[in-house]
Amino acid sequence: MTEITAKPLPRLDGPEAPFWAGLREGEIRVQHCVACGTPRFPASRFCPECHSDRAEWRAVEPRGEVESHCTFHKCYFPGFVGDMPYTVIQVRLDCGLRFFSNIADGGRPATGQRVAAVFEPATADVVLLKFAPEDGA
Ligand SMILES: [Zn+2]
Repeated sequence: MTEITAKPLPRLDGPEAPFWAGLREGEIRVQHCVACGTPRFPASRFCPECHSDRAEWRAVEPRGEVESHCTFHKCYFPGFVGDMPYTVIQVRLDCGLRFFSNIADGGRPATGQRVAAVFEPATADVVLLKFAPEDGA
């Protein structure tokens, strides 16, 4: 008997709720310090630069660069068994924030490669942030 195990999904009502809502609308929204403008993610109460507790959520440019990547050949999460092997990328967005993600089509990334965000529906409520090569290569 084959048991189907779902992939883990994010909590949509947590501190990063505006981020997940943004992905559903095709934007990467992160917290910005109202006092100094520094973007930050994940959500935190205080700005790491100036310690202000005033923040707002705004969209950032959905582009960046692959800083690193790693291909998993061992399945650590049963929900990913059908994706083996899969590659995780570390993207540094142009605003300076880093995200772990994947190349949208399962393609092979290269360090230094320019990428643009792809908003990939996972369920009716969850849209995941993936990336694709910016030049279409
Ligand atoms: Zn600040």
